[in-house]
Amino acid sequence: MKVILAIDALEYDKVKEFDCNNLKQEYYGKTDISEFSQPRTMVLWSSFMTGENKEKEVLGEGNKEMWNKKWDIKETFFSKFKNPKVIDLPGFSYDLEAHERSRKLLKSFFETNDDEEKKKIRKEYNKDAFEHHKKIKEEFNKALEEEHDFILGYFSVIDVIGHLNFGNTTLIKMLYKEMDELAEKLRNNDKIEKLIVLSDHGMEAIGMFGDHSDHGFWSTNFKDLGEPKITEIKDSILEYL
Ligand SMILES: [Zn+2]
Repeated sequence: MKVILAIDALEYDKVKEFDCNNLKQEYYGKTDISEFSQPRTMVLWSSFMTGENKEKEVLGEGNKEMWNKKWDIKETFFSKFKNPKVIDLPGFSYDLEAHERSRKLLKSFFETNDDEEKKKIRKEYNKDAFEHHKKIKEEFNKALEEEHDFILGYFSVIDVIGHLNFGNTTLIKMLYKEMDELAEKLRNNDKIEKLIVLSDHGMEAIGMFGDHSDHGFWSTNFKDLGEPKITEIKDSILEYL
């Protein structure tokens, strides 16, 4: 079984700072996303799964809301597998309702000037993100018990929580440890031959908030990938298939 642990906004510098040795696996590094005008989540995951730069198509005219874009499995490398399972990936199997809820709360957070109101909104926003994380983790663990030749689990919690709380090191560290523990379980799972941990972009501090940084993170248990483009990652998972 081949598995991709897809973690939105997992930051290379933070993986090192917090000593997340399971996320690092045997080989790790940064991805090169310099060909994109901005580190946009939808653009990057779309380009990853299709193996082509999809920035123009995702941002293109007539596509008013980029988050609604959905790729057919035939346009993605997932179709090379017999029984793939792709959980919650933007542009493919994403929970748009959960995304819309977070986005509305984020908007109202920045619209209000009332500190008490901000506190209340932040609490609701974080709670919502954690509940979604729990749900996706259960789905991912269930898939690992099933007969799939490929599983991708997409986790948004570090990105979502990071945007409003990046200055809160205790909270961010806790999230990195949570994902590191998930990676540890995968590394100890004998059914998994190839494991890739991948992020679309990282995150950097803007005051106490977080914004997307200009490189992603990768790690594998089988090969040094150097500084690959996000469109090249699929080649390593398909090699020797
Ligand atoms: Zn992202």
